[in-house]
Amino acid sequence: MKPELKTLIDEAELKETVAALAAEICEDYRDKDPLLVGLLKGSFVFMADLIRQLDIPVEVDFMAATSYVGRESTGELVVLKGLNESVHDRHVLIVEDIIDTGLTLHQIYDRLSTEGPASIEICTLIDKPARRQVEVPVKYVGREIPDLFIVGYGIDFDQKYRWLPYVGTID
Ligand code: 5GP
Repeated sequence: MKPELKTLIDEAELKETVAALAAEICEDYRDKDPLLVGLLKGSFVFMADLIRQLDIPVEVDFMAATSYVGRESTGELVVLKGLNESVHDRHVLIVEDIIDTGLTLHQIYDRLSTEGPASIEICTLIDKPARRQVEVPVKYVGREIPDLFIVGYGIDFDQKYRWLPYVGTID
């Protein structure tokens, strides 16, 4: 049976949300030559739209990581694809699609923080604060949503639906 999709954030709203985030980021990072670190795979569509709304020079890199959740721990970070660039002395902005429990992002943030960045902040398109299990210092939030399972705009369900130009909820 095909799952039902309902639009939660349409294309026009996404465009406005991304433009508002880009305006804040431009203001804060002018003359800082920031390194935007996208977390794969979900952030690639958001990253592509975000950088095209910025009118400051930026560099972009991507990493892919997951956290292995064992019986007793909240998980050890497993880096599937590391960064090509060094974050040392760079103004790093982590770009995430959605923050849920915060478990993986928390560890990525800690890991990159130990590598000597000049500064490190987090930008997420979507935040689900109701599901948070660990504090993560998120500076830029596009939209807060309730505890819903979403897909689209880069975000998958079983590797599908990333291509949707809007964010929808799935049953
Ligand atoms: P967490 O914050 O729990 O460590 O994990 C965040 C990751 O979980 C996101 O990058 C995304 O891949 C996945 N995720 C969290 N919430 C949702 C959701 O509502 N829909 C989908 N498709 N993935 C989600």
